[in-house]
Amino acid sequence: MVRVQPEEYVSTRSMSWAALSPGIWMKVLRLSAESGTWTVLLRAEAGASFARHRHLAAGEYFMLSGKMEVRGGAQAGGVTAVAGDYGWEPVSVIHDHTFFPEETEFLFTNHGAVQFLDEQGNTTSVLDWEVIESLAQATSARAA
Ligand code: ZN
Repeated sequence: MVRVQPEEYVSTRSMSWAALSPGIWMKVLRLSAESGTWTVLLRAEAGASFARHRHLAAGEYFMLSGKMEVRGGAQAGGVTAVAGDYGWEPVSVIHDHTFFPEETEFLFTNHGAVQFLDEQGNTTSVLDWEVIESLAQATSARAA
């Protein structure tokens, strides 16, 4: 049996920010239990960063404001993404340090999980749609 997915509409202005990691906030726009894809609006505080991680599925982003330095930013041979920029992150790519020098907002869709790593390459945590859902629920429970 083929079931057509319903249309979805989300007004982000009416949503509150949920904590993702230190200095990083999110609004969950869509989670898919079928594909594992998750789409979030992310806001990073100035000076925030993502720890070393490997993309276990492809991800893509669209910058709305601010600045994101991937792999050290453009001055170190990486990418410095600003408003209007789009990026695609293929499966298995490792990002040592993603840094936000100023407050930044961007749309992020990940088509699976992100594996966070320590310096020896050991897994420290895995971020997938179910973790995103539980983090969002924990924040909304605190706000209630
Ligand atoms: Zn990354």
